[in-house]
Amino acid sequence: MEHKKVKLFLSFVVAFLILSSHCNINAQKDTITYRAQVWVDKTDMERYGGEADFKRNLKKMFANTNRFWNESKNKFKYYFKFVPVEELYVYDIKGDKDKYEDFRRMAFGEMDTTRADFILFLALDAKNGGLSCGGGGKSGQSVVMCYTKANHNIFTDALYPNQGTYSNLGHEYGHVLGATDLYQYMIAAEDNPISHEKLFPGKCNMGTGFGEWSDYCSALFNYTAKMKQLDKNLGQNIFPKELVIKVKKNGKLAKNVKVSLYGTRAGGRYNKRDVYPEPYRVYTTDRKGEVRLNNLYKLYHPDSNDPNIPPKTPKDLFPYSYWFSFIVEASDGNNKDFSWIPDIELQKYYLLTENDEYTVTLNL
Ligand SMILES: [Zn+2]
Repeated sequence: MEHKKVKLFLSFVVAFLILSSHCNINAQKDTITYRAQVWVDKTDMERYGGEADFKRNLKKMFANTNRFWNESKNKFKYYFKFVPVEELYVYDIKGDKDKYEDFRRMAFGEMDTTRADFILFLALDAKNGGLSCGGGGKSGQSVVMCYTKANHNIFTDALYPNQGTYSNLGHEYGHVLGATDLYQYMIAAEDNPISHEKLFPGKCNMGTGFGEWSDYCSALFNYTAKMKQLDKNLGQNIFPKELVIKVKKNGKLAKNVKVSLYGTRAGGRYNKRDVYPEPYRVYTTDRKGEVRLNNLYKLYHPDSNDPNIPPKTPKDLFPYSYWFSFIVEASDGNNKDFSWIPDIELQKYYLLTENDEYTVTLNL
């Protein structure tokens, strides 16, 4: 009798699994494909075994990147797929490593967008290694640059799921879809002279974690998914219209309270990544107990002649020339309260809710 019950139970389990796998097939996400035109030097390609081998290994590497992209924890609406276009763009530095630069610049020139969506520029016998991504190609394309020394093999440096060129490229493809580097938002408590709190934007493949996409990235990639080249005004378009800072005292909205915005800057040659100690803007709450700010993109991206920004000369104390985040301070002379407002939080909120008003409430 017991045995029969187990059998019956198991057959239910099997039926359930069949049904649910069937459901999965029906609920499969749409695939969005991004075609990379791959640039490689002739001699580099020969060192990698010639064209046929190179293409085969390239396809394998892209497959691993796709796996990394889509198997990393995410809230994607789509399956994102990156593929190399069949025909390689083979250039020839003729053994002169300095010539990589000439071809790299050419990669930002015109690109046939009917054949490719972005460029992967490989320099595999470079003096120094490193990956990066640049936007603003002549046809709107992004250019992902992968520089390695000759003794490094991009195809064999790591097996999935370990970190290697395929996953580092995954990070760069995050830039291709519009994401910013999240490590620039990390502020250590000792580099915050205002509230002495640290800021950590959450784990993400964009530089603060591995095997995980932040909700910011998921929301952004869902939004930019169908842009084969990013909209020129993407940065402006994903901000809500208004930031409302409310200040409460004993639970009630309070007027005439001083509200100061301090910006966080990227680290550079002469400064750490920190909260800049001078206030960037100072306001007072109105009769309703709030401060309303608009033109938010401009708030984070000040013009070079705007007041209260760190100097660019003689030493550049404002690398990237924009605020990654603000710390808002409300103060009535006796009490203070603080809140972080990274631009990516505003963007995530807007992308997820389409609400044009972002509200933050401080309590004194
Ligand atoms: Zn990056």
